[in-house]
Amino acid sequence: MLRSTKIVATLGPASSDPVVLERMVRAGVDVVRLNFSHGTADDHLARATLVKEISRKTGRTVGIMCDLQGPKIRVGTFKDGKVTLARGQKFVLDATCELGDGERAGLDYKELPRDVAEGAVLLLDDGKIVLDVVAVRGDEVHTTVRHGGVLSNNKGINRQGGGLTAPALTPKDIEDIRTAARLSADFLAVSFPKSGADMYMARELLRACGGKAFLIAKIERAEAVAPGALNDIMNACDGIMVARGDLAVEVGDASVPALQKRMIRLARESNKLTITATQMMESMIASPVPTRAEVSDVANAVLDGTDAVMLSAESASGRYPVEAIEAMDRICVEAEQTQPVQLEREFLNRVFTRVDQSIAMAGLFTAFHLKVKCIATLTESGSTALWMSRLNCGVPIYALTAQTATRYRCALYRDVYPLMVKYVGHDREELLGEAEKVLVDNGVVKDGDIIVLTIGEPIGKSGGTNTMKIVRVGEHRKG
Ligand code: PGA
Ligand code: MN
Repeated sequence: MLRSTKIVATLGPASSDPVVLERMVRAGVDVVRLNFSHGTADDHLARATLVKEISRKTGRTVGIMCDLQGPKIRVGTFKDGKVTLARGQKFVLDATCELGDGERAGLDYKELPRDVAEGAVLLLDDGKIVLDVVAVRGDEVHTTVRHGGVLSNNKGINRQGGGLTAPALTPKDIEDIRTAARLSADFLAVSFPKSGADMYMARELLRACGGKAFLIAKIERAEAVAPGALNDIMNACDGIMVARGDLAVEVGDASVPALQKRMIRLARESNKLTITATQMMESMIASPVPTRAEVSDVANAVLDGTDAVMLSAESASGRYPVEAIEAMDRICVEAEQTQPVQLEREFLNRVFTRVDQSIAMAGLFTAFHLKVKCIATLTESGSTALWMSRLNCGVPIYALTAQTATRYRCALYRDVYPLMVKYVGHDREELLGEAEKVLVDNGVVKDGDIIVLTIGEPIGKSGGTNTMKIVRVGEHRKG
């Protein structure tokens, strides 16, 4: 059974063994995520090489996403590796402290005392520990513990309501962008962007070192979900990640489900991609089966219209990386089958002004009404496939391309299945024949099937899609 929604799996110690990684890919991973918060550049380069080998071996198109660490604000380290904080006790966050103890912790983000004032609420370790700021004195933030617990080395700090001024790209991120370009990443995820400008800067840096990746904005700051900022970021990126981990800490966990729906809707309307992330299969870090709540969460993300669902620790450091992918796969497939196709309604209020986009929409409309076997789109940049995949017409879309970068990017598009056509000449009939052969050879269609096909003429020009054809497979070979 074809699965429309794509699966992103974070790699880590649990998925480093080539045998395990190959099983994960065969179980359905479409894009791997290299988390630059951990490991060295060499680790990531080696992982990318392995992924490419397995991709070739299995014949599956597996994209690579590099995820920058960003300015995650963290406490420093402690003499004993950790401390236990009790409710009501005083605790100081001190930018000058080298090694923390039961009374104070150091900060890797030295600006924190300038970013907060009395009355601010700080959430540590994804909100497990809550501190109320009672005073700021020089480099010291004085707090009272509201929710205590064990605080260990380098745990993250968020401020409730957002508002920390740390820039989105740190010196480490700038270095990591170079690594992403070197390993020819297909996607680059930027952590904690506040505005479109953060995304433009990342794009400029990436392009300057020759990287062609799509830019994914991780929406995880309170500032980023304000309507103006969200539109600004949306315009500056190719896709977003609903980064529920940090987002929940900043805006409150109860706000996240509605935000997820709003962001996915806006992204689809803006012709952008979406990845729904964090704790989707959390219990599968230690258990071979998901909880009922996790099953519902994945299914609901599918119904919200996400392009991809993501695994974090489940596939990076959990005990059941393969089982987590198998579970996601079957949940997505079943949820997709229950989803009504309402193409006419989705067309409402949409305006198409570009020729290529109009052909994409004509293809969708025709495929839906004729109930054809598939849509085949011959594409250079992948934009026709992207436009088509923003609406649900219930017909699979095959993106046929000679461009390797396009093929790997399409791995993330919902409903889109990338296939390689080797033909690079300029003869229209030869190209159409080759396209048909690829579809037949891959078992997508057989002689007599009706398909919708889009193509640009003259052949080989990017953004030139101007023709839609309804093709009966095998017809022109007979006559
Ligand atoms: P992270 O981002 O896993 O890099 O923190 C995702 C999130 O915050 O949800
Ligand atoms: Mn995050």
